Amino acid sequence: MSILLIFENKDVKPWLKELKMKIPNTLIEVYPKVKKNESVDFIICWRPKKDVFENFLNVKIVQSVGASIDHITNSQKINKETIVTRIIDKTLSNDMWEFLITIVMAELKNTNTYLTQQTDKVWQQHSYKTINKTTISILGLGKIGSLVAEKFSQIGFNVKGWSNSKKDILNVDSYYEENEFDTFLADSDFLINLLPLTKNTANILNKNVFEKLPNNAFLINAGRGEHLVEKDLLNALEKGDISGALLDVFRKEPLPKNHPFWNHSKIKITPHVASLTDVEQASNQISENYKRFINRETLLNTVSLKKGY
Ligand code: NDP
Repeated sequence: MSILLIFENKDVKPWLKELKMKIPNTLIEVYPKVKKNESVDFIICWRPKKDVFENFLNVKIVQSVGASIDHITNSQKINKETIVTRIIDKTLSNDMWEFLITIVMAELKNTNTYLTQQTDKVWQQHSYKTINKTTISILGLGKIGSLVAEKFSQIGFNVKGWSNSKKDILNVDSYYEENEFDTFLADSDFLINLLPLTKNTANILNKNVFEKLPNNAFLINAGRGEHLVEKDLLNALEKGDISGALLDVFRKEPLPKNHPFWNHSKIKITPHVASLTDVEQASNQISENYKRFINRETLLNTVSLKKGY
């Protein structure tokens, strides 16, 4: 029995250190240095390269080191018996909230505009918006989206949420029926995407959505790059269907230097930093899951391969 860490574009060292401390007396290896492929039964991974799991036929558990699993299901064939788990962490949700309130308030109070004006020594006042006259619409009311929705509502924003099933969150309007989608979008000052990437949610941020949003609406994509149809966003900004966008996630990361988003006056870019997994917290969950696996107990934070999240 052994644990294998397969990491791409993420430093594996702090994870290895934490896990070796928390799971002593177990062989923990880092791909591609593996002694016996057939001994690997527990994979811990981030963005594994295409079909790499095919080398490890006895894997029972696949543990994502993030909140999402699309980086695994998009690149690997996983049989139905394999259990896939992810990280759920209140800090991750709270960090997302802190990121989003920062972006929203900066937009409401024009602080980015004033920073630009300062470099040009321009003294020009702009009208600002207030919290209680602002509607935030959130795509995805899961572990992260529901906390974010609750917090925006608690400080006085009007909040709407979109999910597969009805939600009961204080002062948050829950939309979930297909025919309610247009009503959900209407009156939005901010559309925040916190959906997982699945076959049903890919390309959801598209022309149809931008046309249904009010012209002053501002898009924040903190879900996944594949949710956004990039050319539709560029067209929507050009036509004035929406007013601007903050993008934290991209189809290709890092965003290529020649990408048109970099120099667009209505697009703001952050390098996938909205909310970062805490290695220590996540390692606690992973080591707990490993113990449960050994003891044949139910694992924490499993996902449905059928639903894709
Ligand atoms: P969850 O799995 O807990 O929640 C997913 C939510 O999306 C649920 O409310 C679900 O509805 C809803 N949903 C799924 N599919 C659909 C659909 N087709 N139509 C409508 N609603 C749908 O995910 P988390 O909240 O933990 O995370 C969400 C995403 O945030 C992650 O997958 C990741 O992509 C992104 N993320 C980004 C980070 C960043 O730094 N930018 C950091 C962390 C996460 P229901 O509840 O009814 O099932």
